[in-house]
Amino acid sequence: MNGLFFDYRDPLFGIFAIFALIFIVSFLTHAYNLYIERKSRKEYRKLLKKFELGNLKEDDYIHLYTTYNLPFDSIILLASSFLHKGDYNKAISVYLALLEHVKDQTKKEELLELLGNTYLKGGFLQRSKDIYLKILKFSSHNKTALKNLLVISEKLKNYPTALDIIESLKELNSDVDTELVYINTLKVIDDSILSFEQKSLKLLEMYKENNLIQRLVIEFLLKYNKSLFWNNINLFDPKSVIDLLWYLDFNDIDFNIVETNQFLTDVYTAKGHINISKESELFELAILISTNNSSTKVNIDLNFDFICSKCKKLHPIYDSRCPHCNSILTFNVKAQLTKGYYEKNSSLQ
Ligand SMILES: [Zn+2]
Repeated sequence: MNGLFFDYRDPLFGIFAIFALIFIVSFLTHAYNLYIERKSRKEYRKLLKKFELGNLKEDDYIHLYTTYNLPFDSIILLASSFLHKGDYNKAISVYLALLEHVKDQTKKEELLELLGNTYLKGGFLQRSKDIYLKILKFSSHNKTALKNLLVISEKLKNYPTALDIIESLKELNSDVDTELVYINTLKVIDDSILSFEQKSLKLLEMYKENNLIQRLVIEFLLKYNKSLFWNNINLFDPKSVIDLLWYLDFNDIDFNIVETNQFLTDVYTAKGHINISKESELFELAILISTNNSSTKVNIDLNFDFICSKCKKLHPIYDSRCPHCNSILTFNVKAQLTKGYYEKNSSLQ
């Protein structure tokens, strides 16, 4: 064989021929790969166009993952667009479809976490709970699963389970002091054996131990034991519950006690129930007090927003657990001046 090839050629030419052959083969391979890549890109672009139109189906995600080898994280990111739009059902079906094709255990766990979280956000508490229990079966130290199970148990008012989960998280060195105080407070409020009087006294004692639960205790007292609230007003910081005080029924206000407290006097002067304060440290109350005393009637009122001290998100309604970041008792009330109800009505006349 070498006789035929090398006999009448320069050995250097032989080497050149081999290189040329390698070059041709790699060029052809490259060209073929380029063709395949272009073809895939074209289809991929077609898919993306569909995605822009919001028409991507569950199967398309599987396609992107299995056929086009789009990284797992990118697929998850694409599917998360449904969550931003509040389309939980769609996100859930994409996660479920992906679960069938993903082999890697870590990715599977990540998908299950996303699925559980989406069920939770969509309000499917029982399904979410099942998913997290499934995760804990093969990954008992999964803190995300435990923390979300805690939220679910709280929502389902299953406080003994919540306390068990807190214990597990504690063993994993998680800081659960706030959770423990919070769940124990909810447990007392929800207790079916204690009387309202017993609950009030117990909550007040718990508050003295930890003022983090102030708002929960005040809310309870204002509902079921107003006299205990007014008689212990000096234990509380009324500024932190200005919204509760502002909306309190006239007959539920103990004006003798109000007059012993500067801030409360300002609040109810601003509200127009009494006419004692001439000014206030709080700008919004000062404006209301001065307009109440002016001869020209200006209809302004107070409105309240709540800022989570953890995630800084603004919420129109108070929640003891931030719906955005899940932190507990992190809402701070913020008063703001708003157009009065009567003015809005009179402008119609
Ligand atoms: Zn938050």
